[in-house]
Amino acid sequence: METLVAITKSNWKSALINLIDEYVVYAPYRFWNQLEYGRVTKDNIGDIVYNQPKPSSPLKSLFLPIRENVVNSSQPAQKRIIMGAPACDLSALSILDEIYLNHDYPDPNYMKYRENTILIGFDCHTTNEHCHCTSYGFHPYPTENSDLVISLIDDNFLISAQSDKGLSFLEKYLSNEEQAPDEQKEKATEIRENIEHDLREKNKDLPDYDKTGEVVMQCGDDIWDRYSDTCVSCGACSAICPTCSCFLLIERPEFEKVRSLDTCQYPGFERVAAGEDPLRPLPKRFRNRYMCKYVWKPEKFQSKACTGCGRCIEACIGEINKNDLFKEQFKNLSIEA
Ligand code: SF4
Ligand code: SF4
Repeated sequence: METLVAITKSNWKSALINLIDEYVVYAPYRFWNQLEYGRVTKDNIGDIVYNQPKPSSPLKSLFLPIRENVVNSSQPAQKRIIMGAPACDLSALSILDEIYLNHDYPDPNYMKYRENTILIGFDCHTTNEHCHCTSYGFHPYPTENSDLVISLIDDNFLISAQSDKGLSFLEKYLSNEEQAPDEQKEKATEIRENIEHDLREKNKDLPDYDKTGEVVMQCGDDIWDRYSDTCVSCGACSAICPTCSCFLLIERPEFEKVRSLDTCQYPGFERVAAGEDPLRPLPKRFRNRYMCKYVWKPEKFQSKACTGCGRCIEACIGEINKNDLFKEQFKNLSIEA
């Protein structure tokens, strides 16, 4: 990690007080037992939670609101800073960018959100039970799509720039800060290595991203029937997934066009005129989500459609654990490790 500055807690607080006059700033806060993005104000700067794994809502929700009128959008033009994005969510932006910034049909609202936002990623200094980013080739620290990266070591914030935007930001707002001491840089690297090692150990029986695609293709109907047995089609797994990107466009009177996030887990997702619905049986919808993530999207896009955040496992009311399915079937099916 190329650390450019080390900033003390009190200097960082002063910097944030100045920044919230100029930007709308979001950061992770603990609400009850969960981390969630909240708006930073002068009064709650001290409550920001640093370097803990993923907020409950994915970063996606700040770029693709659940419902949004895409005509005459009320999207504020004010520039934003989003702090605390974990690496899994930052990497997930790559596939959303491929879809929503497609050069033939770029989405103007999404583009505006992306352009107006400075992203400050946090290293993960701990993990949650179902985190498995390393299984799919990602790291528990930001390597893409963040402008700056923060790691709180002892009482210093180690801040590095990962983009030109981040570098200009450092030069403009934090140019008087000190270079990080070597021992703190070493400590930051050691934390990264330890967390990465723990994640690899914890998930050593999980097939990698490509092998998961093979597993999904080889699973028979009996597997989908069994694993979807407790699914209630609530759609939570898609809503909180940082890479799920389907939407429904609803035409309304007064030239209103509402984009609403959609999911293949809802009954009627593929219903067409005359009532035909190829995904009416629940196990077929259930299978569809995994085919989309691990088989179809890899055929069309460069970026991975699952970053191993584990939220879909944590959120499932039916207690369905996709990783149990993949591990079990990887062992049973004839796929080379
Ligand atoms: S969260 Fe669980 S119960 Fe809800 S749609 Fe997804 S798999 Fe089904
Ligand atoms: S499929 Fe599950 S683990 Fe993968 S990115 Fe989506 S919510 Fe996270």
